[in-house]
Amino acid sequence: MKIEHIEAFHLSARCEPAFQSAFSTFDARTACLVKITTDSGLVGWGEALGPAAINKSIILSLKKPLIGKNPLHIEPLWLSIYSQLRDQGQRGVTLCAQSAIDMALWDIAGKFWQAPIHALLGGAFRQKVKAYATGGFRVIGQRHCDTVQAECQQYQAAGFQGVKIKIGYGVEEDLLSIQTARAVLNQGEKLMIDANHGYDMLEAIRLGKEAYLYDIDWFEEPVLPELLANYREVRQKQPIPVAGGETWHGRTHFQWVLDHRCVDILQPDVAGCGGITEIKKIISAAETAGVRVVPHVWGTLINLAASLQVLAIIPPQPPRFADNPLWLELDQTNHPFRHAIGQSSHSLEMGEMTISQNPGLGIDIDENLLKPFIVHD
Ligand code: CA
Repeated sequence: MKIEHIEAFHLSARCEPAFQSAFSTFDARTACLVKITTDSGLVGWGEALGPAAINKSIILSLKKPLIGKNPLHIEPLWLSIYSQLRDQGQRGVTLCAQSAIDMALWDIAGKFWQAPIHALLGGAFRQKVKAYATGGFRVIGQRHCDTVQAECQQYQAAGFQGVKIKIGYGVEEDLLSIQTARAVLNQGEKLMIDANHGYDMLEAIRLGKEAYLYDIDWFEEPVLPELLANYREVRQKQPIPVAGGETWHGRTHFQWVLDHRCVDILQPDVAGCGGITEIKKIISAAETAGVRVVPHVWGTLINLAASLQVLAIIPPQPPRFADNPLWLELDQTNHPFRHAIGQSSHSLEMGEMTISQNPGLGIDIDENLLKPFIVHD
């Protein structure tokens, strides 16, 4: 079997009303998808986290050395791509683009061997995972605590047992939103906060000390992702567990984070950290360091499907009869084409999602359904 074609698609759709994290306004949802076709007719799909147009151009620049290669030689292909970009790559968007290619190769491998990807990776520890709702962004023109209250009620009614809200808009405003969210959620329902690196170290420490009263499971991206020493200091000087990982790439970067004890919870994104090949190594490193892994998930049903395969293979932390539940991040914000590009067998029931046992990623992407969203750049 040989790789015959590699195509990359930049998708975009307007998003009304626009919403904001601490540092960016989402008035459109975008994605970069990759489709790899083999001479046997098998096709694999992948998705890259991050800027779609740049991801697309990197993927297309990697086409030539991949055409004609055996798509089942995933580790050698991973190293070959990484080595081509290593000198000025190693991190960032180059690893995001590589993640999409790697994901598509695993999809092909699963279809070739007629097995879900988790079976090829050594087998699943679990068949389903609990999902938490990601939302609570700021909606322009509305009070954050009001929209947080309405969203938490909605997620609770939908059966979610955990909710993550956005903060990083200012300590006072954020504490009001956190207090409001906790007042809606019952005891035992999880509440997480995500600052999208909207604080400096002193603000993050102050927020953590005051928000601790509201039973917060984790404090995500408190400070800028480059400032790993500040991460460590936030972890040491306030009581809420610190989480991060969606902006880190490659196992050497994650190893540094683990070695320096910068987080309590590691959040690699399979569409950004280097793909399925690399996240398996990052999971092993976290297991060795005794650090919990809760993958970051953002994007379309392709990344959702890949993340579910990854969640299947994360070892219990620690092994024991009553498994410490693993959490799937389920973005609840408006995304016009998240599920509109194909079919999957995923369904959410009582806040839990079943992991696909179908070959590969377990999804069918229909290229015709992409057409309304394609940006021709
Ligand atoms: Ca986040």
